Amino acid sequence: MSVIPFTPHDTVTDAATITDGTALGTVLGVWAHPDDEAFLSGGLMAAARDAGHRVVCVTATLGEHGTPDPDEWPPDRLGRVRRHELDASLAVLGVDEHHLLGITDGTCAAMPHDAMVRHLGRVVEAVEPDTIVTFGPDGLTGHEDHQTVSSWVTAARAAVAPRTRLLYATTTEDFVDGWEPARDDFDVFLADGLPVRTPASELAVHLRLDAATLDRKVVALRAQASQMTGLIAAVGERRVRQWWAEEAFVSADAVPATTRTWGTWRVAA
Ligand SMILES: [Zn+2]
Repeated sequence: MSVIPFTPHDTVTDAATITDGTALGTVLGVWAHPDDEAFLSGGLMAAARDAGHRVVCVTATLGEHGTPDPDEWPPDRLGRVRRHELDASLAVLGVDEHHLLGITDGTCAAMPHDAMVRHLGRVVEAVEPDTIVTFGPDGLTGHEDHQTVSSWVTAARAAVAPRTRLLYATTTEDFVDGWEPARDDFDVFLADGLPVRTPASELAVHLRLDAATLDRKVVALRAQASQMTGLIAAVGERRVRQWWAEEAFVSADAVPATTRTWGTWRVAA
């Protein structure tokens, strides 16, 4: 007689990390602002589309307050420009299904939570994704819009499609090591403990983009010039390429419900 030992982790840990973006089936991405989707999942979306999979991108706001110069770029103008930029960026990646939620930048947390969850639940039911990608509870950067979108998507999936793979974008030890020299210049991470150092062994999906895919992602990012021109001018394209050459996600089911309060950031609107 042989005995197969039981370990409690058998039920929650599964196979090896997925390293192939074509293995995720139909993908639904839900993000807060134009460019979130390109930074965090540009390579993933391109791979899925190239493999013939459906990719649907949902963007909550137009990021119309995303400028240090609101006199030159009042929200109406910047919102229009960012919408065009997002269209162009997604086209580079082969994504032609895109939905805007029409929420004012910086106000996601002020939206009625239950109504947003129901709305996104209807989107999930309509798309029937194999994989949903969004932010984790930390919001990746600590941005309140990001954290709020994460909470909507998590609740919507739990309500209507609990068996659908839900992935939270995260940052790896390599990313943090590469980012560290720029931390003082570009402190986009808004809370202690961010960016997260997720060990490679905890990643559900870890894409290391090949040179051609990275070129394509950079073109998609450059299409969002209102956000990228200043960043590239300041740090150079080489570092941008280095930072965003990998896309990493953890399984939402492996992330404990946390009461930790990550820092938040609001637009003074
Ligand atoms: Zn964002």
